[in-house]
Amino acid sequence: MRAMVLEEPRTRLRLREQSAPQPGPGEILLEIAACGVCRTDLHVVDGELPNPKLPIVPGHEIVGRVAAMGQEVAGFARGERIGVPWLGFTCGVCPYCSDGRENLCERPLFTGYTRDGGYATHAVADARYCFPLPERMDDAEVAPLLCAGLIGWRSYRMAGAGTALGLYGFGAAAHILAQVATWQGRRVYAFTRPGDQAAQAFARSLGAAWAGGSDEMPPEPLDAAILFAPVGALVPAALKAVKKGGRVVCGGIHMSDIPSFPYRLIWEERQVVSVANLTRADAREFLGVAPRAGLRTEVTRYPLERANEALADLREGRLQGAAVLIP
Ligand SMILES: [Zn+2]
Ligand SMILES: [Zn+2]
Repeated sequence: MRAMVLEEPRTRLRLREQSAPQPGPGEILLEIAACGVCRTDLHVVDGELPNPKLPIVPGHEIVGRVAAMGQEVAGFARGERIGVPWLGFTCGVCPYCSDGRENLCERPLFTGYTRDGGYATHAVADARYCFPLPERMDDAEVAPLLCAGLIGWRSYRMAGAGTALGLYGFGAAAHILAQVATWQGRRVYAFTRPGDQAAQAFARSLGAAWAGGSDEMPPEPLDAAILFAPVGALVPAALKAVKKGGRVVCGGIHMSDIPSFPYRLIWEERQVVSVANLTRADAREFLGVAPRAGLRTEVTRYPLERANEALADLREGRLQGAAVLIP
């Protein structure tokens, strides 16, 4: 197999040829067809997340076909298309797993962070964390659903039922969630880097009622805002934009420091919450909603060997929608 491997944080990924891993008793070997590039991959590569497995194959939006299965795997067929998300394993016995919050498991494994991921031609995954995918979308187009979509969906659920929703940072996750929210009859207000006309036009084309810079106020107070941009200064900005009782949801795994702000911004029962990881229930629910909402994703395809370029384009904000690696 070929894989793009991170040997040390803050270095370039290197192409390696190695023998394909064998699936363990409960595992599936996938022949990978596409793997999305997520901002979390940047945080792994940049050493912003503690204790990665090293060397590591990044990538946790894996679309592939079942090439081989361990003897304990049931419910999958050879050649079937499946997806592998960020959540790669949970212990099943800790207090969080026991009460339905496996996203907070004490002994988890995460795809592309603490177990090898999908920047490769092959990967093995625990079958219990693999999902059948909506058939209508092609391999590259369906890949961003596996993290931008799933963790976006968990953030969206956390935002509550209000009709005026702000999305800060209009990348892979927001471009999916804007479509879901519009389909559900909500009004979406999209906030981009100030002056990013292209991203604002992109947001309006996907149903946003308004799009502007993150330094602007929306035309109406928001019921909730979701922050997908990893910028701590957006927390007080979003608090200013939400109404009484409103909620600001931080949807990323890493964020720059949040500057201090006056208490009046969070007064009147405004809330700031974060979303961590996903549960398998989130995955099943969202992958059921996606085809009904008629989602389409905008993807830029890169050959696997150009993973460093895809990461650089994401880092520099040169992408519209999501980057996807094709082996
Ligand atoms: Zn657990
Ligand atoms: Zn991700």
